[in-house]
Amino acid sequence: MKTLWTKKTVLVCTGCSKPMLPNLSTWDEEGCGWNCTTFGCGDFTGGEIEAEDLIALGVKPWIALRIEALSNAVLEMEG
Ligand SMILES: [Zn+2]
Repeated sequence: MKTLWTKKTVLVCTGCSKPMLPNLSTWDEEGCGWNCTTFGCGDFTGGEIEAEDLIALGVKPWIALRIEALSNAVLEMEG
């Protein structure tokens, strides 16, 4: 039986105590990976965030695209 993710399920980052976002591209029967989106946090993994995933969660498209752009920018800075 598939474990369904609900909006009530929110994991909190161990680094900054802020809510994290699910990484739906890693979603399987066990659940999915979670990304911290706090800039500067050691657990920030925004490079894995896809706008489509956020939109699928109900995030407004223009916000999702901004978050994706931010995560891409951070990825370039790290790269
Ligand atoms: Zn964090």
